[in-house]
Amino acid sequence: MTPPRPVATTLPAEPITGALSPLPAATPRPVLLPFDPNTPKFPLPKGPITGLPTSNNMMAWTVDDGFGAETVMKYAEFARDSGARITFFVCAGAPGWTEAANILNPLISSGQVQIANHTYTHADLTSLSDSQIQETLMQNHDLIKQMYGVDPRPFYRPPFGRRDSRTDAAAAAIGYTVPVMWYGSLSDSGEIAPDQLLKFANKWFLPEHIVIGHANFPAVTTVFPQLVELLNNRNLVTVTLNDIYEKNA
Ligand SMILES: [Zn+2]
Repeated sequence: MTPPRPVATTLPAEPITGALSPLPAATPRPVLLPFDPNTPKFPLPKGPITGLPTSNNMMAWTVDDGFGAETVMKYAEFARDSGARITFFVCAGAPGWTEAANILNPLISSGQVQIANHTYTHADLTSLSDSQIQETLMQNHDLIKQMYGVDPRPFYRPPFGRRDSRTDAAAAAIGYTVPVMWYGSLSDSGEIAPDQLLKFANKWFLPEHIVIGHANFPAVTTVFPQLVELLNNRNLVTVTLNDIYEKNA
């Protein structure tokens, strides 16, 4: 017979067994390699960029749109849990950004997440007049400021990557001087099978690359652990644009 366990009289009669019972075995969360905050910064570019001006093992993970509220939320949770440094090119009228603000705001404050401008209407800028370009950027700009309290300038992404010297000049006149293009895409602005998405990641997750993904459809949210593993296997450190470039003087 097992002798009764001695009970200290100072303990509460009802021990906190719930809190003391072993936690269920947690799936280990994949975590990314840390960014070194002392990494030297480069001067701000004066026009469009498609890649990073560094030969180090850094990659800019950029995520656009936000047309799937649940996908936005899962991206936000993923960033929080994995340490991924991500620049979100927000269409602020898309569902989900407001809801995700609770998770994103602390990450924005710490610099892990950056918010940039992807216009309010997501129209092809080359089809708009100068004033319409400025209007759609500023409408989005104001909403981003309301939601996240940040000024996204000078970085914006022209919808569909459509830009020319006229659209660049119209945007630059209101402080949006750096159109951010990309060199590699997860090709998930529309629906895509997760294994296809992984093939694109395998092709494009490389040093110096700016890679574009989308917070629209859930495929990407099902392969976050594999994406982290891929980055880690390649010793890639994710960075935001602010990690790489000096602020405006
Ligand atoms: Zn877009």
